[in-house]
This record gives sequence, structure tokens and C-alpha cells, in this order.
Amino acid sequence: MPDRQRLTETLIDLIKIDSPTGEEDAIDAHLSGILAYLGGVVRHDDYGNLVATFPGSDGSGSQTPVMLSAHMDTVEPGRGIKPTLDADGETLRSDGTTILGGDCKAGIAIVLEGLTSAIEDGAPLRPLQVVFSRAEEGGLNGARNLNFSLVEAKSGMVFDGEGAVSRVCVGAPAQNIVQCHITGVAAHAGLEPENGVSALLVAANILTRLPLGRIDHETTSNIGLLEGGLKRNIIPERAYLDGELRSRDQAKLDNYTAEFRRAFDQVAAMYPKAEIELNIWSQYRAYSVPEKDPALADISRAVSSIGLTPTMETTGGGSDANVFFEHGIVALPVGIGVRDFHTTRETANLSEIYDAARVCQEYISLK
Ligand SMILES: [Zn+2]
Repeated sequence: MPDRQRLTETLIDLIKIDSPTGEEDAIDAHLSGILAYLGGVVRHDDYGNLVATFPGSDGSGSQTPVMLSAHMDTVEPGRGIKPTLDADGETLRSDGTTILGGDCKAGIAIVLEGLTSAIEDGAPLRPLQVVFSRAEEGGLNGARNLNFSLVEAKSGMVFDGEGAVSRVCVGAPAQNIVQCHITGVAAHAGLEPENGVSALLVAANILTRLPLGRIDHETTSNIGLLEGGLKRNIIPERAYLDGELRSRDQAKLDNYTAEFRRAFDQVAAMYPKAEIELNIWSQYRAYSVPEKDPALADISRAVSSIGLTPTMETTGGGSDANVFFEHGIVALPVGIGVRDFHTTRETANLSEIYDAARVCQEYISLK
């Protein structure tokens, strides 16, 4: 059985190792040491993602390994975090000046405790691979650069979801990034305004034509940044737009992306002297796992085995799971007992984290 005290200490230790995105070396060294001590063959790819392979009990390696994954980085403000435990001994939180970093340190602690406990208990283990990615926050860049030739697993669990471990994320959207540089014509606003073309006005025209917000029940879009102009008395020559489109339905995403392109083209036709340089690209693709998928059944079995009822949920955000899916690996996010991700109000619930460690142990134990 997992040890709640040890699990809590592991989590607090991990939270105290700063690891904002791009600065994962210290936590990586710490985790590499632990995984090697537990008997894993620890490797890194060129990006610095950590892959630890455990052969399984019979050592034959004949069975395809399962994946246990989490990410090593955190968002900011995430330096010098001081985790404190509420009087009830149940909830961990920061002092309010930083995030807690439960996302995704709780996920890592769950994997370590599940694995440690399984080894201690001596039950036969499935072959497994622990994948701890870098730079998940802000674009899944670690997973996108992961050397997948190191990963043999075809299914697994991603410990990076909100709330209880029984919450299994079976669908997530695709995201397209939308960026546009607009170049108009600068002119003195008082002396010769008729010779200028306002890049900000071009941008405003574009904005009013785009489908924005919640477009339908599985599609959203946003232009989150508009920059431009120079001075009060100059017709603005430059403007810049940065935004995104997301949908759980890839075909819808493609359609709305085409609608975006048409809106930009229409405005370009209205302002022949302006230059509109539009870039739209896929950040990650959508996934959706049917109820009967064996990888999902495998996770549900582990959740049910500790007396919880799995619930299948969809999300509006992407995670490493999207990238794994693109590479043929059905590894689904589950809850890690953490709430209010990416805020200074973030909390971690120790009972839920303990349950997740139990589920992790069940998942990797041979049945
Ligand atoms: Zn996360």
C-alpha cells in the first residue's frame, strides 16, 4: 500500500525544487536519481525529456510497456514556493504569493509513490515506462520534441488532470495558433492623413469579422493580443494580432480556420495598400477516445479497483496526451487532486493524491 506520509513528504520536496519552464535541470537530476535507484533504466532525449524503463517482473520484456507520465515544469510565479498544510492535514497550498506547483508535482509524486509501493509489496509488475516531460506549460514543447523512438508504450496514464483521480479525460481539443503582422502606410496625422493607411484600423476590421468566443459546444476562438501604432500624431504603420482556435472536432477546426482566412482576405481586398501577413499553424491535434477503447478500460479497471467510479470527461485545454495520441499512444489524463491550476490559489488535496497513488499501483500491477 502507498505510504501517505512518505507521499506527502515527496510532494513537498518536489514543490520546493523550483522548475519554471526552461529551468528543469535540478528537478530532472533529482528524479533521475530516484528512478535509477528504483531500478529503472534512465535515458534522456536531446530536449532533456526523461524516459525511465522498467522491465517488468518476469524480465522478459515480451509485453508492451505501459506509460506513466507527468511534466516537470511549472508556470510562474513558481520560485521559492512555501507549501503549507491546512490545520486539517488535508490541503496543501502556497503562501499566496506563488503558485503551489501541484501541477504537476502531485502527478510526479503519485507516479513515484505508486511505483515505490508496488516494488515494496513485491507484486508482479507490468513492464512500464515513466515519461517526465519538460516545457509542457505554454505549448507542450517537451512532448512535441520528445524522441519517440525511446518510447515503446502504446497506452498509459498522464497524471496531470484536475480533481479526483476518477476523472478520466477522454477528449481534448486541437489548437491552431493565429498570428498576423499588418503593415499599413505611415503618414503625419495632421498634415497628410489621406496618404496613410492605418494598420490598427485594418486590424480592427479583421477583428469584427472573425467568429470569436465559444463558437459551438466544442469550438472556441480568441484573439488575445493586439499591438500596434507608434505615436498620437502618426497614422499607425504596424499592427500585430496573436490568437488561437480550438475544437475537439478536427473538421470543425479546419472549417473555422478557413473562415478566419476568408475574413483576413476580405479585409486585405479593402486595403490594397496594406500588407497582411497571416500565419496559422497547428499546435496540437484533437483526440477522442471511444468508451470501449482497451486503454481506457485498463484505466477504468484500476480506478474501480479502489472503490471509485470513473467518470469520462472532456476538456477545453491541451496536454501532453494530445501529442502522445498523435504518436499512436493512448495515454489519458487523470485527476491528481489539484485545483485552481496556474493561480496563486492552487491547492492539493492529500487524500485524493493518495487515492491516485493507489490507482497508479493497481494500474502497473499485473492482474
Ligand atoms: Zn500540468
